[in-house]
Amino acid sequence: MNEQRPSLRNKIAQLREKFIEQMPGRVEEALNHLAILRADPKQSVAAANLHRFLHSIKGTGNSFGFEELGAIAASGEHLAARLLETPVNVSAPFWDELAEVLARIVLNTETLRQHGASSSQENDVPRFELAPVDDSEGAGGRLIYICDDDPLQVEQLATQLQCFGYHTVSFTDPAELGTAMAAKRPSLVIMDIIFPNGVSGTDVLAAIAREMEHPVPAIFISARDDFEARLNAIKAGGEAYFHKPVNALDMVTTIDELTVQKKPEPCRVLVVDDEPVIAAYHSLILQEAHMITFQVHKPERVLEVLHLFRPDLVLMDMYMPGCNGRDLAKLVRQVPDYFGLPIVFLSSETDKHKQFSAMRVGAEGFLTKPIQPEDLVAAVAIRAERMRALRMLMVRDSLTGLFNHSTTTQMLENAIANAGRQQEKLCFAMIDVDRFKAVNDTYGHPVGDQVLLALARLLQQRLRNSDIVGRYGGEEFAVILQGITLEAATLIIDQLREDFAKIRFHAGEVEFSCAFSGGVAAFPQFKDMKSLREMADRALYQAKNTGRNRVVANNE
Ligand code: GH3
Ligand code: MG
Ligand code: MG
Repeated sequence: MNEQRPSLRNKIAQLREKFIEQMPGRVEEALNHLAILRADPKQSVAAANLHRFLHSIKGTGNSFGFEELGAIAASGEHLAARLLETPVNVSAPFWDELAEVLARIVLNTETLRQHGASSSQENDVPRFELAPVDDSEGAGGRLIYICDDDPLQVEQLATQLQCFGYHTVSFTDPAELGTAMAAKRPSLVIMDIIFPNGVSGTDVLAAIAREMEHPVPAIFISARDDFEARLNAIKAGGEAYFHKPVNALDMVTTIDELTVQKKPEPCRVLVVDDEPVIAAYHSLILQEAHMITFQVHKPERVLEVLHLFRPDLVLMDMYMPGCNGRDLAKLVRQVPDYFGLPIVFLSSETDKHKQFSAMRVGAEGFLTKPIQPEDLVAAVAIRAERMRALRMLMVRDSLTGLFNHSTTTQMLENAIANAGRQQEKLCFAMIDVDRFKAVNDTYGHPVGDQVLLALARLLQQRLRNSDIVGRYGGEEFAVILQGITLEAATLIIDQLREDFAKIRFHAGEVEFSCAFSGGVAAFPQFKDMKSLREMADRALYQAKNTGRNRVVANNE
């Protein structure tokens, strides 16, 4: 169970306090609206303001656990709704009833304030529990221990893994492995099964695992391919089993699956609510579930913020000044970029007809305030994740998982604009596999795909998080390296070139290797996307024309 963090509870308590403190001022405003309406019940702006005030107090009060306050406001909202009807038909006692509601709101909040809105009603603060999220880095980073009595096998495998950015330490004696494990924990062990003098790799590893509180994932490699050997490997905690000779690329794929903790990008949610404390409250709940939020309190700011924040979902209030949620959702939907953006209403509106009418603009859901925090998180997460999945299909290349051509282009454009603003450097590199057609022609298309996959993996794993890697076309890749000089970028791409050339590919019994050529150009030497691309392309052309398997920097 994940106890709600004290900081979150404090923040929620502060919001409750703020809400209570602001109440006298807000009631005074409401009294002004009431005075205008008493003189002329047809003053529609005053009527809308008064109704929205009571509606908002109902929703926020209930969300914060102030149930009595919520109930008082609800009775007032019910009365005020009559002022929205045409023609307005109210009698003298009506005004007194409304004034009475406002007075009770003041009294009730005064009591809450005296009792301490945050402290004495501890139990009213909505509590919720969320599954813990593992924030830890993969233990041991990219360190791998390889234990095999054949030094040549170890050497070969280590070299291949190093090409993909893993650090390896090799052992030929199983006893040394035990000592090393105790001294420094790797993220994975690759273990041979048959050692000289009848020592069994599975026994050795099982013994080591018994000593450890959290065993390290293990992959067994063996010349044996029988049931007993495989079963022993499983019993010793083996996560995978490779029959020798080991295909390094398959091995890397398995290692990645076992060691790389894929941290999903957090969902981004735009919270639109004219009541700042309730927007803040819902944001806090979503943040606690590891989502990124941004609040908008003025409907007219929505388009500008959507453009900058790029949310996966919009959580929208229904009643806001100057614009209701339904119209705002419709307005957002009319912008082609946001046609598919999920919009979920969160409102204390319980009238089914009004909910239905709001949903008709193409909203994804209607949630009612007050909502249990875990229900809010679940409703938002499921819809936002679906949006992310769809977006992923649209922006990624299906073979390699890298950004596709149009996304890479878009990102290059953004990166250039950013670099211009921040007066930073930026480099653009084009990479093209050498004589790739011959690979396909000789070994077949599926083997060619393996080569592209290996290159994609190499680029992705070896470049920094701030670098952007895309598949530009068939066997062409593009890399955006931010905040780096032309010389440094060229060195990095050239190092990758050397490592790529060392990777051994297998096509049946045949082993072969590949190479690539690269061209690099720098911003601000070349100032816009078109010239940056052209110049990187020109450098790549030169690399191809001067013998391939090289990287050329454009110094024109
Ligand atoms: P160069 O060194 O001049 O770049 O020669 P090349 O053979 O690499 O260049 P060319 O442009 O002649 O051939 C590229 C080949 O890449 C042709 C195409 O069939 C192949 N290709 C493109 N996309 C894919 C893919 O997704 N999978 C595979 N296996 N092959 C692909
Ligand atoms: Mg090529
Ligand atoms: Mg080509």
